Amino acid sequence: MPELPEVETLCRQLRQVILGRRLLSVEVLDERLGPPPAVAGLAVRQVVRRGKAVALLFHGGVAWKIHLRMTGRLLWETDYGLPVDHLRLICHFDGGRLLLIDPRRFATVDFDDEAGPSGPPDPFAAEDPAGLRREAARRRLPVKAFLLDQRLFPGIGNIYAGEILFAAAVDPRRPARDVTQEEWERIARAARAILREAVRARGTTVSDWRDLFGRPGEYQHRLKVYDRRGGPCPRCGGEIVREKVCGRGSYHCPRCQR
Ligand SMILES: [Zn+2]
Repeated sequence: MPELPEVETLCRQLRQVILGRRLLSVEVLDERLGPPPAVAGLAVRQVVRRGKAVALLFHGGVAWKIHLRMTGRLLWETDYGLPVDHLRLICHFDGGRLLLIDPRRFATVDFDDEAGPSGPPDPFAAEDPAGLRREAARRRLPVKAFLLDQRLFPGIGNIYAGEILFAAAVDPRRPARDVTQEEWERIARAARAILREAVRARGTTVSDWRDLFGRPGEYQHRLKVYDRRGGPCPRCGGEIVREKVCGRGSYHCPRCQR
């Protein structure tokens, strides 16, 4: 599932190719997406990320919100040759087309998004570990599950939550309310560094993530614990274990994550 760095990658790449372009027509190939919208002729004014969703803002005040969910992906084509499987939506722009491809059909497109131009706040950008600690003080759940709360940390998913806790040397199973101020500072710092680096690497491809131009990301080569069960910990050489935390597969080093 695309997380913050993957969706941010798509937003940046979309800005490169569709800003200012006019949408000529829309073909909805899967009725689950709803009827095609009446926006033909409008040009794209801006592309913004809202958590894990991509928002396309058109001139005239129209906004779409695309949520890729499990297996959705966007592909930009200027050269229409090969047939594409699992195609659900085609947006014909002046000079290229944007495809929504989605084998499991969970992706959604809200053709009438009214959330306004700004995205949800980025809790790590605020540099407010005291705020994180106050929020966590009321929560019994493991810190890993706390980081997966989309209302608090929009865009953080299972892979990056695990990598952030490894970098911060915090055990994912610890109750969120027991994490200290100093540890929250480490978590916030690790989150900013990892998410920034993952955006630069165009995301993590462990199964089907591809960027807007069909290329895999590169951050999977830099993962320290995800999918490394039994492997040596890059920090202490100990054995990385996999355990379920709130139903999600979770990787950590029991020796150096406390
Ligand atoms: Zn270790």
